Amino acid sequence: MIDVQEKKDKESQRKARLLVYALAAFYIVTYVCTAVINRLVVVGIPMNSIVGVDISVNSLSGTLAALGGVACLVMTVVDWKRGGNIALGLITLSAVSVTVRVLLEGNLNLLAGTAAFIMYFLSVCLCRYGMRRAEERANKDYLTGLDNRRSLINDLATLTKRGSHFGLLYLDLDNFKYINDTFGHEAGDQVLIEVSERWKEALPSEASIYRVGGDEFIALVPKIENKPADFLTGLAGKMIDEVSTRKFGGQQGDKYITTSIGIVRYPVDSTESEMLVRFADVAMYQAKSSGRNKYVVFDESMSHQITREYEMEAIVREALDKQWFYLVYQPQFSAKEKKLRGFESLLRLRTDSGEFVSPGEFIPIAEKSDLIYAIDEMVIRKATRDFREVFNAEGNTLTLSVNISAKHIVEPDFVETVRRILEEENFPINHFEIEITEYCMVESMEKAVEAMHRLKELGIVLAMDDFGTGYSSMSYLSQMPIDVLKIDKSLVDNIYEDQKENQFVNMIISMGHILGASVVAEGVEDESQLSLIRKADCDYVQGYIWGRPLELDLAMELVEQSRKQ
Ligand code: C2E
Ligand code: CA
Ligand code: CA
Repeated sequence: MIDVQEKKDKESQRKARLLVYALAAFYIVTYVCTAVINRLVVVGIPMNSIVGVDISVNSLSGTLAALGGVACLVMTVVDWKRGGNIALGLITLSAVSVTVRVLLEGNLNLLAGTAAFIMYFLSVCLCRYGMRRAEERANKDYLTGLDNRRSLINDLATLTKRGSHFGLLYLDLDNFKYINDTFGHEAGDQVLIEVSERWKEALPSEASIYRVGGDEFIALVPKIENKPADFLTGLAGKMIDEVSTRKFGGQQGDKYITTSIGIVRYPVDSTESEMLVRFADVAMYQAKSSGRNKYVVFDESMSHQITREYEMEAIVREALDKQWFYLVYQPQFSAKEKKLRGFESLLRLRTDSGEFVSPGEFIPIAEKSDLIYAIDEMVIRKATRDFREVFNAEGNTLTLSVNISAKHIVEPDFVETVRRILEEENFPINHFEIEITEYCMVESMEKAVEAMHRLKELGIVLAMDDFGTGYSSMSYLSQMPIDVLKIDKSLVDNIYEDQKENQFVNMIISMGHILGASVVAEGVEDESQLSLIRKADCDYVQGYIWGRPLELDLAMELVEQSRKQ
């Protein structure tokens, strides 16, 4: 992403440079023309014989000079540094030459020219100042006043060009979402401001820190070649302490805020800006997954993970292209009578060489690379087409569920896309269910809730997937028009061993009912789980105990059987 941005910036810089040169050439041409016209008139050649129309010398040279002035302003707007400097140089030269002529020729009429050039000079200076301020603002983060991602890209390009060793620290606050959700966005903003101030102070003076995302920061520490080996880790430790050991201006909950840091070194880990940031990000995630509030130094083994991600992305792309994806359907039954409720469609990927890739692996990659939009649409189309006939049969009570990526729901055209596909496939909308994970709510809760309401208005059934693993706050949950809560398999896994877990599952089931939703227990594998789930008054069961994900023909057989019952 950084490389793409860098290329784009370079290309636009090149264009700006060419435009500046063209405008400078234009200015010189206007200046020379004015001088020539003035000379010819002095020599006695009348104006109308030069330009063909009757026009005064003053207005002609005035027009040309004004055009030159405009060219200087445009130059400055296009590139305030180079263009502005060239414009000021040209205007100064012109002003000096006119003034010299005033003195040599004693022609006081020419003083108007000097005055005009002084005006142009001042205008260009003002314009240059304005453009510089605008650029500074574009490189700053509005909230913390730190440099932003754009500025980081420029500085990384400069540092890598210079070739001297530097360290890059990727810093991410842990549990920041909790602060935002619990104490409000203002409290969250305050924490970000305070954190950035502390970190700025903690860093050596030659280092810079950038805010690159919501609660993500990057610090660049130059000139590390002569520093001790533990210099960067020492610094990271200090930055972690700055957050974890000091209170935040009266914020409650500040004990939850800690920092995870990933560290990379240039040129040891990579010589490319983009890779350095990616590697630092991977190391930071390692720090998070190994308990948070710590730093991890990138090492080679972690790059395999990234290589695998690249490969996986290529496989997913090819799978879409060559139709390696197919769907299987896992049945859901009522907990009490084991009556078929419907199916959840689950995506499968088998490459042409027979390699089977699990959705647990390819879905996250597809989400990262935006391929998920195409995948989700394909799934909706394929699943509704597979079941269209059966679902349009009279007296159908079954429901067909599809999983939709968190990221997709909040896209502005998502609801309309779903509506259009269902219409095109002639699928009964009230029998179509969308499963959304709690996780999707993390990023843009309000947008997700709004999209859910719009889906609901269309008549679509909404299920909250993997419930009990995330952090849905109750206040949001009650705003969501949820029809179904799906208890995550990890909770069902433990219910017979762990008394506490049983109570938790019971509580979730009651909560679902209070919210007016039905509850599906997912991943039920054995009788003891089933009996506890039934006792807790859970409505539906989806799990290997009663049905694994089935190929379409087997799913159809099951529908047939259930009709005969
Ligand atoms: P999920 O939506 O929570 O799907 C349930 C997963 O649990 C499925 O795994 C299913 O095969 C598995 N499962 C169900 N009952 C049992 C059981 O009794 N025992 C065990 N061991 N497993 C059980 P699967 O198919 O590997 O899917 C994994 C995840 O991938 C899904 O979790 C879902 O988040 C995602 N996914 C699958 N298909 C799609 C899709 O079409 N679109 C999107 N966006 N995501 C999908
Ligand atoms: Ca699901
Ligand atoms: Ca699930």
